[in-house]
Amino acid sequence: MTEELQCIGCGAVIQTNKPGELGYTPQTALEKGLASGEVYCQRCFKLRHYNEIQDVSLTDDDFLRLLNELGQKDALIVNVVDIFDFNGSLIPGLHRFVGDNPVLLVGNKVDILPKSLKKTKLTQWMKERAYEAGIRPVDVLLTSAKKSHEMTELLEKIEEYRDGRDVYIVGVTNVGKSTLINQIIKNTAGVQDVITTSQFPGTTLDKIEIPLDDGHFLIDTPGIIHRHQMAHYLGKKDLRIIAPLKEIKPKVYQLNEGQTLFLGGLARFDFISGNRASFIAYVSNDVNIHRTKLEKADEFYQKHVGGLLQPPRPNEVEEFPELVRFEFSVKEKTDIVFAGLGWITVTAPAVIAGWAPKGVDVLKRKALI
Ligand code: GDP
Repeated sequence: MTEELQCIGCGAVIQTNKPGELGYTPQTALEKGLASGEVYCQRCFKLRHYNEIQDVSLTDDDFLRLLNELGQKDALIVNVVDIFDFNGSLIPGLHRFVGDNPVLLVGNKVDILPKSLKKTKLTQWMKERAYEAGIRPVDVLLTSAKKSHEMTELLEKIEEYRDGRDVYIVGVTNVGKSTLINQIIKNTAGVQDVITTSQFPGTTLDKIEIPLDDGHFLIDTPGIIHRHQMAHYLGKKDLRIIAPLKEIKPKVYQLNEGQTLFLGGLARFDFISGNRASFIAYVSNDVNIHRTKLEKADEFYQKHVGGLLQPPRPNEVEEFPELVRFEFSVKEKTDIVFAGLGWITVTAPAVIAGWAPKGVDVLKRKALI
């Protein structure tokens, strides 16, 4: 039997005969890789060197199989979520998959949220949302996988709750799971950047096992694709624009009823009725916001999407899904969330509509800030 080689980027088993499938690498590249001691699959190689993304076939069944495995283990489950896209990063039905295993809920990318946000308020908010989803986490923690100094607390908590067992890290794509694992490796073994990370969903394709001191393992599972994430509807350049990389600066708008805000060409917010009030937009600083009249908004969008209203880019307009409208009646301070893009806080009673590309959720939640 030949020894199985694994891609050091995503952990997929290397193969040289099925292009387009998991772990494919051309024979010549494999030989070069072996000579240099670094074997990547073609997908990870391209991601690292050219920032290119290729689609690979990994079916929902594979993910379900993986999740089902969790319930049969005796392990600590660390569920990483993106606090900027909390609703888009919950794993549907996770509580059924984990069985009796304890879940540690980790809210990543805390660096993006405005510093004014109180951490205790945020963790409390996360706990409530987790309860609603049927998960009773043993603890809720905030991290920033980009900052290595934030790892100490996480590692301590993992050690405390795993209580001599294996640890499974689960999360949907793009929550920063690979970045987090890299930090953990760096903090425990001093090896840097072993796993591919990218702004594009779906980089970790097979399990990666990191040995722990006592013969147990910390196991990184593939990211689960959440179809309602905005990221799946955008080109990679746009993804770079919408995914905030640094602290977002809230933008405040005083609006009268009958006014509309466009978040680039990606989403739209209509103030249908209510008294003049403040609306606060929390989106990446790189998304331009345009204010216009509600009655002209349809026409404005048709004319300017891909132009004044970007992203999408001009060449992407044709493929870009139409915006779908969701209407909400708001009684108290509420966030209208555009999954993966951000949210607008409505500060006074109002009737509003939020629009997002078909397939992407718009929902209302108790104001976070
Ligand atoms: P995965 O699909 O969950 O493994 O996600 P990745 O680790 O590939 O990260 C997805 C994107 O989020 C990348 O652009 C990362 O740079 C970014 N990211 C990861 N962690 C953080 C974080 O703590 N803060 C911020 N601002 N971005 C992060």
